[in-house]
Amino acid sequence: MSNRPPVVLTLYLSVFLVALAVAPLILPEFYITLLNYIGLYAIVALGLVMLTGVGGLTSFGQAAFVGLGAYASAYLTTVHGISPWLTLPAGLLITALVAVTLGLVTLRLSGHFLPLGTIAWGMSFYYLFGNLEALGGHTGIAGIPSLQLFDLELKSGREYFYLIWVVLLAAVFATRNLLDSREGRAVRALKGGSVMAEAMGVNTPRAKIVAFTIAALFASTSGWLYAHLQRFVNPTPFSLAQGIEYLFMAVVGGVSHVWGAILGAGLITILKQWLQDWLPRLLGQSGNFEMIVFGLLMIFVLHRARDGVWPMIQRFLPRRTVRAPTGGAASLPRRPLPVAGSVVLEVQNASKRFGGLVANDKVSFDVKAGEVMALIGPNGAGKSTMFNGISGVDPLSAGAVVFRGANVESLSAREIARRGMSRTFQHVRLLPAMTVIENVAIGAHLRGHKGVIAAACRADRAEEARLLHEAARQIERCGLGEQMYEAAGSLPLGKQRIVEIARALAADPCLLLLDEPAAGLRYLEKQSLGELLRRLRAEGMAILLVEHDMDFVMGLADRVVVMEFGHKLAAGLPEEIQRNPAVVEAYLGGVE
Ligand code: ADP
Ligand code: MG
Repeated sequence: MSNRPPVVLTLYLSVFLVALAVAPLILPEFYITLLNYIGLYAIVALGLVMLTGVGGLTSFGQAAFVGLGAYASAYLTTVHGISPWLTLPAGLLITALVAVTLGLVTLRLSGHFLPLGTIAWGMSFYYLFGNLEALGGHTGIAGIPSLQLFDLELKSGREYFYLIWVVLLAAVFATRNLLDSREGRAVRALKGGSVMAEAMGVNTPRAKIVAFTIAALFASTSGWLYAHLQRFVNPTPFSLAQGIEYLFMAVVGGVSHVWGAILGAGLITILKQWLQDWLPRLLGQSGNFEMIVFGLLMIFVLHRARDGVWPMIQRFLPRRTVRAPTGGAASLPRRPLPVAGSVVLEVQNASKRFGGLVANDKVSFDVKAGEVMALIGPNGAGKSTMFNGISGVDPLSAGAVVFRGANVESLSAREIARRGMSRTFQHVRLLPAMTVIENVAIGAHLRGHKGVIAAACRADRAEEARLLHEAARQIERCGLGEQMYEAAGSLPLGKQRIVEIARALAADPCLLLLDEPAAGLRYLEKQSLGELLRRLRAEGMAILLVEHDMDFVMGLADRVVVMEFGHKLAAGLPEEIQRNPAVVEAYLGGVE
């Protein structure tokens, strides 16, 4: 594979690992304790990288999951005498059940309701821990056994150090692996809004639950480690205030970067410690002044470094880019295309109302395999609305859509995508920070099957190579080979539209819906787009095209449907349309 990280990165990583390995041998107890806490916090913050930074879902309630892991083990070991090594999976199972249940309820909330929801259950758990007699109420549970590793009893912080950091590093690498995989891209696609992700076949509610559960499991693991390190738990460390602090750690570190979790946990823990030590001396009196200064510093950091501190460090590091396999990979299986000339899509009396506005009014037409059908009409005629209705992004109010012989008007965008329809968006929906190849690979989502666990331990590499190979192939085919590893957002808008076409093609569709693909392209770029569409048509692809450039449309389309004010004004061959007096009057008038 060509996905080896740059040598310098491996070197830095080795130095970091060696420093960690010798730390307990040379550092005084105080610093070991500090590093242990940084490690415990970083495990939780890492979950927030996945959930908030990557998935765009904000949670203030992670401390509750830490508490769940801690209390599960505290209770089961002290009351039932179960070994801590068994209470870990038990705690994880309980956490997973709670996370999935809470996720099903709260992740549907949008905007500020989701963070509010996490605050609500974050508080509930805190009071639950404090009020349950069995959990020792506000006094908590003492006498939790220490961990036994073979013959070694982990009694001191120094002995715990390696366990905490091995768990943390394993979680960091598992998360990084996951992010560079099909499932990881599905979570990353959430940030672009669920419309694009669903149109590419991503099950977005599932992707949200996956991110949410992973974050909860990390938090729970941290809680388990904490309980056996402290050998005592009470509700205080699992309060909402701590939940907010975890979020600070992730955000300050760099909420979309795995290493940002460690950096953020480190910075905040050390900063708080430092303030606690020095402020009382400076001010000559005691009190929680550090929290006030801490708050002000947070505001300053959020103001000055929105993306956190890690990106500032990253600027000096070579980038690790996901690359297509150089030696080539087995190609993915392809969907058999319908026989050329057979009807692939039939739109029957499609209507769409937005309140009183009729955006589509009983429009009917069909598209055949091996044909370019153009849908034209002035701005606001209802063309994009029609695309949304056909592709299930925004279902029709009435009428039918028959795709490959089956009614799909009431199916989800995801299901329609699965059946072989793929589309681009008039208003480009790419993930600007991701490279072109990663964006295009999202299109191939449904052509892979490896799940989260396979991805986390790199058991998905053969499939991933095939997916990336396919993405690279479509990018080359669309003439964007040179931009393959550039951030999609750095390309000119016209080229971003071509990236959308490559992404749609990566889904191996038999019907392609292109909404104004040539807008913003230069003359030569339009010509090569035209060439590409002709080639696709010759291969048997059915193409439905919305486009304003009449030379482009008339030179390419086999048939044309003209829309005006939501209804179908005319339909026919390009030369008929150009001669149609109603069309000339309504639409081409200005051009002719
Ligand atoms: P076109 O793509 O042909 O330019 P659209 O399909 O985008 O036109 O829009 C058709 C009409 O429907 C316009 O008047 C537009 O304002 C309206 N419209 C489109 N989407 C919505 C929506 N989500 N809510 C309300 N009105 C909409
Ligand atoms: Mg439009």
